[in-house]
Amino acid sequence: MYDVIIVGAGPSGAALSYFLVKKGFNVLTLERDPKPATRVICGEYLPDPDSLGMPKDISKAYWEFFRPFIVHRIKRISMEIENRRFTTEYIGYSIDRANMIRKRLMESVENGLSLSTKEAFLTAKLGDGCIKVITSKGEYRTKFLVGADGFGSKVARSSGLHNVIKCDDLALAFTNEVNLDLPDPEEMRLIINEELAPGTYAWVIPRSPSRANVGLGVRLSMKRSFNPVRAMKKFFKELKIKKEPILRGRYVPVGGISPRIVSHGVFLLGDAACMVIPSNGGGMHLGIIAAYLLSNSLEGEPERRYERAVREYIKPVVDLGLVHRKAADFFTRTGLLRRTVGLLPNNMVSEVIKVVKGNYYPLIKVMASMYDFLDMGRSGSYPRC
Ligand SMILES: Cc1cc2nc3c(=O)[nH]c(=O)nc-3n(C[C@H](O)[C@H](O)[C@H](O)COP(=O)(O)OP(=O)(O)OC[C@H]3O[C@@H](n4cnc5c(N)ncnc54)[C@H](O)[C@@H]3O)c2cc1C
Repeated sequence: MYDVIIVGAGPSGAALSYFLVKKGFNVLTLERDPKPATRVICGEYLPDPDSLGMPKDISKAYWEFFRPFIVHRIKRISMEIENRRFTTEYIGYSIDRANMIRKRLMESVENGLSLSTKEAFLTAKLGDGCIKVITSKGEYRTKFLVGADGFGSKVARSSGLHNVIKCDDLALAFTNEVNLDLPDPEEMRLIINEELAPGTYAWVIPRSPSRANVGLGVRLSMKRSFNPVRAMKKFFKELKIKKEPILRGRYVPVGGISPRIVSHGVFLLGDAACMVIPSNGGGMHLGIIAAYLLSNSLEGEPERRYERAVREYIKPVVDLGLVHRKAADFFTRTGLLRRTVGLLPNNMVSEVIKVVKGNYYPLIKVMASMYDFLDMGRSGSYPRC
C-alpha cells in the first residue's frame, strides 16, 4: 500500500513527487508516456518568484525547483495591440522543461520514489481509508490519489470531480522552437491580433539571442472559421522564419479553477484542476506551487488543508486572470479595443500583463461584468463544440 499515487509526470506531478519523497512519503508516480516529458508542448516560460507576491517558503520552494533549468533570463514583456506597443518591466525565465521534469524525477527515484512509465491510469475505486487504483498494467492500493494528469483528467472523471467546461473557457495553443534573430533577446513579445490568434494572443519567447519559442492560441468558441496551420504560416512569415511550422497543440483551460478539487482522499493538481491564469494561459508555476502546498497538506485533515491553501494562494490569482480575460473579451468582441487602443493607459495594460490588482482594477472589473451581463460566454460546452 502506497501513501500517495500520483497520476501524471508533467511539471505538477514531477514537482509533487519531488516534494513528497523529500518528506519521506511512500509514493508511486504513474506516467502513460514511455518516458516523462516525451511531448513538451509549452512556451517554457516561468515568472520570477518575487513577482508573484507569495509567502517566502512558497517562493523559495518554487524557485529552487526550477532554478537549475533556466536557459535564458527575460527582463520585460511587450504587448502589441493594433499599432501600439505597451512595455512592462517584468522578470521571468525560459526553462528547459523536459530536463527539469526528468532530472527532478530521477532525483526523486534516488530518494525512494517508485516511478512507472508506459502505465496509464484507468480508474479508481474509492473506499474508507484505502483507494484501489486500476491501471493498464495492474492494481494498487493507496491512501491518497492525486490527479496531475492534465486537462480532461481521468482521475477527476473517475472520482466525480469532473465539471463541464464552456467552449469559451477553452483555448487550443500551438508552439514551435525556432532559430530567429531577436532584436531584443530580453523581451518577450505578446501580439494581440484577432486574425492571428482569435480570443488569445501570439507570442515570441526568447530562449537565447538567436532562438525562441514561437506560438499562438485560439479559443474554441471562435474556432470554426480559424485555420491554425495558415495562422502559424502567416506568423512565421511575419517573423521571417524560413522553416515550415509544425502543428503541435494542446488544450489550455482558461475559465478559472475547478469548483471541486478534493474528494475522499483524491486531490487534483495543475491543469487537472484548471490551475491556469485565464488571461495568459500560464499554468506551470501554479502547478509547481500547488504541488508544494499539497505536499504540506497531507497530514491532519488533508482535504481541508489543501483546499484552504489553494483558496489562499492559487485561486485569487486565477480569479484575477479571469477578470482580466473577460474584460479583454468584452473589449475585443464589441470592437471597443480597436477604437480606443490609442487611449489605453500603459499602466492598465501593465496590470493585465503582471496579473496584479492596481488602480485600474475597478474599471477592468466593470468591463468584465459586461461580459457576464451580455452573456458573451454562451457557445456550448466542451467536448460538443
Ligand atoms: C502551447 C502551450 C504553451 C504554453 N506555454 C506555457 C508557458 O510558457 N508557461 C506556463 O507556465 N504554462 C504554459 N502552458 C501551460 C502549461 O503547459 C500547463 O499549465 C502545464 O503543462 C500543466 O502541467 P501539469 O503537470 O498539470 O499537466 P500536463 O503538463 O498536462 O501533464 C500531465 C501528464 O499526465 C500524463 N497523463 C495524462 N493522462 C494520464 C493517465 N491516464 N495515466 C498516466 N499518465 C497520464 C500526461 O502524459 C502528462 O505527462 C502552455 C500550454 C500550451 C498548450
